[in-house]
Amino acid sequence: MSSPEQGKHNVDNYHRVIILGSGPAGLTAALYAARADLAPLVLEGSQPGGQLTITTDVENFPGFPEGILGPELMDRMREQARRFGTKVKFERAVEIDLEKRPFTLRTDEDTYRCDALIVSTGATAKLSGIPGEAELMGYGVSACATCDGFFFRDKEIVVIGGGDSAMEEATYLTKFASKVTIVHRRRDLRASKIMQDRAFANPKIAWIWDTVVTEIVGTREGGVTGVKLHNKRTELESFYPTQGVFYAIGHQPNTDLFRGKLEMNDVGYILVQEPTTRTSVPGVFAAGDATDPIYRQAITSAGSGCRAAIDAERWLQELQD
Ligand code: NAP
Repeated sequence: MSSPEQGKHNVDNYHRVIILGSGPAGLTAALYAARADLAPLVLEGSQPGGQLTITTDVENFPGFPEGILGPELMDRMREQARRFGTKVKFERAVEIDLEKRPFTLRTDEDTYRCDALIVSTGATAKLSGIPGEAELMGYGVSACATCDGFFFRDKEIVVIGGGDSAMEEATYLTKFASKVTIVHRRRDLRASKIMQDRAFANPKIAWIWDTVVTEIVGTREGGVTGVKLHNKRTELESFYPTQGVFYAIGHQPNTDLFRGKLEMNDVGYILVQEPTTRTSVPGVFAAGDATDPIYRQAITSAGSGCRAAIDAERWLQELQD
């Protein structure tokens, strides 16, 4: 089955469906699109496999009763999508024209065209912009425990945040660190009960409540030496010695490329016409964390990737009818 438009384009660079992003949403969309004979192209983006490649054990993806490592799960998804004819390229879209079809996408290496586009560009860890943060990023400051935990063997670390990520990162970091202190801006945690309980039961984890980090102190040569704290309840300022700072304060959707081109909410999540994955531009579908400020799970992303592929397939079919 070929698109009536296909003959007009360079066959190497025209694809009926292009998928941006290679997390659970993108690769599930690819699997479904490939099995519908659409021979999709996945442009992986700058983090192939998405956020799961920087986690450790995934214990809540159905079908893996013993859990599975995030990177391994993503390798398997990529393999499954390829098996049915998905092309995967390690390229990142830098410019996009959605004004007319076929849509045009430019990466650093090439230009591509497609009639249906699935946006599954995911989200990225947030930082808070305090003094010391940018200068010391990679020199004692990190937003990825799995990537950098190893460098903090027998050191003391601060983790900022009170959600599931903070609990998970702090628990993981106790494998290396001698002590991990969670600094949270309120007295109540946002994290799920099971993740809280695991962190509370860990003797290496200490807690500082109602407090924000206002500055990270240190040098690139000597690393982090401590953080300045502000207690929101008592208004007291203090200095807390630490050798590492890990952020776990949530995520920002990776949707800058689509600003002014697709409708999005005030913080950049792409709006879709629920229960479909249709965006404000016909032929463009969105799935995964780029659209989802609420659930943000691998399994919900995979589910929405599946819906996006089915929506794209039906939309392409309608074009032909
Ligand atoms: P989150 O649930 O949005 O929690 C962010 C935390 O950071 C909150 O406690 C928030 O404080 C705090 N925070 C936000 N901005 C801050 C700032 N500027 N300064 C200091 N603290 C700040 O984000 P998340 O923990 O990354 O989790 C996101 C989603 O992924 C959730 O749905 C979560 O369940 C899921 N997740 C699941 C797992 C798992 O099941 N294994 C692991 C990780 C994440 P407030 O509480 O005061 O707002």
